[in-house]
Amino acid sequence: MNKLLLILMIGIFVAGCHENSKAMDYKAMRKKMVETQIRSRGIVNTRVLRVMGNVPREKFVPEGYKPLAYEDGPLPIGEGQTISQPYIVAYMTEKLEPKTSDKVLEIGTGSGYQAAVLSKLVKEVYTIEIVAPLGEDAKKLLKRLGYKNIFVKIGDGYRGWKENAPYDLIILTAAPPRIPEPLLEQLAEGGRLLAPVGDISQELVLIRKTNGKFVRESLLPVRFVPMTGEIQKENN
Ligand code: SAH
Repeated sequence: MNKLLLILMIGIFVAGCHENSKAMDYKAMRKKMVETQIRSRGIVNTRVLRVMGNVPREKFVPEGYKPLAYEDGPLPIGEGQTISQPYIVAYMTEKLEPKTSDKVLEIGTGSGYQAAVLSKLVKEVYTIEIVAPLGEDAKKLLKRLGYKNIFVKIGDGYRGWKENAPYDLIILTAAPPRIPEPLLEQLAEGGRLLAPVGDISQELVLIRKTNGKFVRESLLPVRFVPMTGEIQKENN
């Protein structure tokens, strides 16, 4: 009887160690990712670096991809969509210059990872996903992980989310051929909009709204999934 109890206790101890080491591995992998993929490529915003080192990316990728969660690239999240490369998430977040008082609109919730990163740097994140199962999953996950300032809506982001406009920051993580007009209208004075724009060849575009005028800056060539829905019909 005692022997059985001992074996049971050893079993529990070993399982506990295993769980711990798994958790520690992710933390170490995250730290390494920040150093080798993000800081080394010129991201300097300390708040962004800190959040990238805290948000558990492995929770936002499908089960089989968890060991690859801290690799230097995008990963599939189902429905033909992807979670962006960590460096790109950090780069875009830094370019938005997020402030704790900011209200943010994201088009393309996907896994919810970019929204989670932003939520730790701003007041509120409103995020829209057109593929219902992805949006539902992200909503559940973000709730489970305790993110309280992220609001997920299923729908086409083309028309934005008027009820909560204007937004200090707007980020698109799916690429439209050109920036939807309703999104520009929902940008606050002094606000910034960041979007990958184009088809096969895309560029990351930053738009600043100053004194009612939009100033456009091209940042770098990128590759995102295309924005679907109304913008595609508008094209034909
Ligand atoms: N930000 C995501 C990356 C998502 S990939 C993350 O951190 O995981 C881009 C997402 O945009 C996809 O999930 C795609 O379904 C969504 N999308 C494409 N067109 C859209 C539209 N018109 N409105 C809202 N979401 C859209």
